[in-house]
Amino acid sequence: MDAEASVNDRYSRQVLFRGISEEGQRKLLAARVLIIGCGALGSAHAEALCRAGIGRLRIVDRDFVEPSNLQRQTLFTETDAEKRLPKAIAAANHLREINSDVQIEPHVADVNHSNIEQLIDGCDVVVDGTDNFATRYLINDACVKHETNWIYGAAVGSYGVTMTIRPHQTACLRCVFEEAPPVASAPTCDTAGVIMPIINIVSAVQVTEALKLITGRTAELHRSLMQFDVWQNEWRKIGIGTPHADCPACGLGQFETLVPDATDTAAVLCGRDAVQISPSQPTTVDFRLLAERLRPAGEVKFNEYLLRFRTGPFELTVFQDARSIVRGTDQIATARSLYAKYIGN
Ligand SMILES: [Zn+2]
Repeated sequence: MDAEASVNDRYSRQVLFRGISEEGQRKLLAARVLIIGCGALGSAHAEALCRAGIGRLRIVDRDFVEPSNLQRQTLFTETDAEKRLPKAIAAANHLREINSDVQIEPHVADVNHSNIEQLIDGCDVVVDGTDNFATRYLINDACVKHETNWIYGAAVGSYGVTMTIRPHQTACLRCVFEEAPPVASAPTCDTAGVIMPIINIVSAVQVTEALKLITGRTAELHRSLMQFDVWQNEWRKIGIGTPHADCPACGLGQFETLVPDATDTAAVLCGRDAVQISPSQPTTVDFRLLAERLRPAGEVKFNEYLLRFRTGPFELTVFQDARSIVRGTDQIATARSLYAKYIGN
């Protein structure tokens, strides 16, 4: 559909809404948004922004669709889970059916110091769909450094929280949460569960903030740490104030998460009895060759996007960039050893 017709027809109800209007719709059509993490929150963000007519959506996720995702990750289907499609690819397939005018840029990747700045390059707003603090500090550092607005959001159980960060204008994530909660101290969706309604609430606020930022309606931003518990019926807003002069990120310009660190190539995936290993050098895996090599040692299956290998109590899922998820252990040393043994380095 050409741009004129779409403003008048497809987006007519959004254009009628005074907060957006025709001028705002044109800004949405010209915008590029980055969604980091395409699980429950990311699915909800992606669908809403795609339907709203954001010109370009860049979606990055490191995982693949599993049956336990389907209860709340609304972009995915049973077929996606059966095919074990990477979430970024499955999301792109469905989003293109929802709105073929939107350019979808899927990235199957682990977001880390080596790619975050490239990923946010050219994006007007970054919307958080991740599930861990380490990645959020990384997003915060990159967005503060490049003066890119980003919208933090998290949900677990029936509780959710969100905050909009405008670098050097509002407090940043590091101003508000100086340190991440210690590993394994906080409940996660894999230990405490999560219900879909809280996902919808948090995502609805995040997406609305993104629409306000893109259309320039910054006076309407909520300017707070907004918290909800949809089961306990609690809704709270805490003012976040202005940037803190002693904040390492927005006060002092020290972006520690953007610096390479030899120890960050392995990460325990909390509550999943799994460890992710990233290769130290960029590479591309030939699945056919690797499958041949692994076949004598266990059961191997692969598709265009990933290879799965079972050996004894362990299962390795290998992506095209050689990043692997080792299941059956929460020990980095064990996972590294299996990786070295079967995938090589
Ligand atoms: Zn700060």
